[in-house]
Amino acid sequence: MTFRLKFTRIFSVFAISTALTLTACSINPVSGKKDFSLISENQEIQMGLQAHNAILKKQKPYNNTRLQTYVSKIGQELASKSHRNNIHYTFTILDDPNVNAFALPGGYVYITTGLMAYLNSEGELAGVLGHEIGHVTARHGVQQTSAGMAANVLVGLLSKKAGGNSKVLNQLGNAMLSGYGRQHELQADRLGAEYLARVGYSPKNMIDVIGVLKAQEMYASNQQGRSGGSYHGLFATHPSNDQRLQEVVNAAKNIPSAGSRAPNRNAYLRQINGLKFQISKNKTGRIIVGTVKTAGLTFETLANKSAVGAGQLRLLNGRYPNGQLNQGELIKIIR
Ligand SMILES: [Zn+2]
Repeated sequence: MTFRLKFTRIFSVFAISTALTLTACSINPVSGKKDFSLISENQEIQMGLQAHNAILKKQKPYNNTRLQTYVSKIGQELASKSHRNNIHYTFTILDDPNVNAFALPGGYVYITTGLMAYLNSEGELAGVLGHEIGHVTARHGVQQTSAGMAANVLVGLLSKKAGGNSKVLNQLGNAMLSGYGRQHELQADRLGAEYLARVGYSPKNMIDVIGVLKAQEMYASNQQGRSGGSYHGLFATHPSNDQRLQEVVNAAKNIPSAGSRAPNRNAYLRQINGLKFQISKNKTGRIIVGTVKTAGLTFETLANKSAVGAGQLRLLNGRYPNGQLNQGELIKIIR
């Protein structure tokens, strides 16, 4: 994905600057144990802020205050119930058709318009944000930085050269934007499911979100000329068949508030009505949300009124590969 490559340089710059100011170990908010981390909380927040400013120079936030506020409100609620509610969190929707979400150290969380288009409830949105908050609370970015910095110091010693090893640091930047590897991703899923449950959503929403991403992969691999792979594309099997994933998410079901709150499908769909959507390379449309009035209406007939085909409409509505419409429900089309 070109998206990852674009940011390589930014990360190497801020990682090198923080590498110059090493401090002692700190306690991990999730495990309660000492991190192998050379970065203090203050440095972490500084590092996040620098990267945040760099990202906003390269990428536009989505120009819709109402939607930004909506996402931020859900994110702040989850963050306030997280293992790390002492730091300030910033949630930003990026105007970007790529299906992506990521978190930077220090509490900076991003979701793209491209991903929001494919979500179908507030619970799923909370799942994405909870997962990203999990990367922040477990200090995955900082742990990666420390590992990178340690390798960097080692390489520096071996080559008797001071300064950064840009290759290691570039890999680090890529990790932050594209996922952290199976172990950290599973931990973020576990934490995300726990934060969902703490605010009342069903932890199952976490599985649903990964299902959305898996459907993206399936759809992309069925379409010629489209590049596949989602930002969380780490599961070889379907998430509902993935035993480790089921285990980590099921752990959150015992939290008393779990499932006391509806996933709020309709509320979410009303919020994203009018959302910008990239139809093809040079063509942009909008998501239009409407009610299925006619009995027996199919995605195939709906596609005649839409700028995308039946397959993509199914994908957008969480029905890929062969789900159907229900009379009376809200549904997205693209115009
Ligand atoms: Zn992740």
